Amino acid sequence: MTPEQFQALYPHVIDWIYQILQAHSNEAKTASSLGFPRLSQYFSGSLLSSTKVVVVERVPTPPLSSLGLSQFADFENGDYDGITYLDTFFVKRRSAPAERLYFHELIHVVQWQLLGPERFLAMYADGLETFGYRQSPLEAMAYTAEASFCQSNEIFRS
Ligand SMILES: [Zn+2]
Repeated sequence: MTPEQFQALYPHVIDWIYQILQAHSNEAKTASSLGFPRLSQYFSGSLLSSTKVVVVERVPTPPLSSLGLSQFADFENGDYDGITYLDTFFVKRRSAPAERLYFHELIHVVQWQLLGPERFLAMYADGLETFGYRQSPLEAMAYTAEASFCQSNEIFRS
């Protein structure tokens, strides 16, 4: 995707994101209200109380194909355990009690904050296109952090 193409598409994608967040705002809970004990060892209280969580049957993905981005069809049709938009993440009901998943999505919340929405989406799209979902830099960062989160839990328990 060229920077010009991204610029043309960005308003549509961010619009879709605001709509999906609005549509689920009544069901959203704060990450701090969920009673996961370890998250506060890694994330600030203000981040946990400003981050919202919505439990759904299937996490929403942007309608990229209908915006002409057929190269992202696999991503769009994927069935994910979680996905993060701005300060809110969606988790699949089946996976909802997994603290590691919340940890992973909170990494994305921090990425959205640090990069801002436009740079986050540009980097995410570029990573997806160049490396695929799992190896894209923003995902690789979240998965690496998640792995050490899980590992430090094992050390802690043993
Ligand atoms: Zn992720």
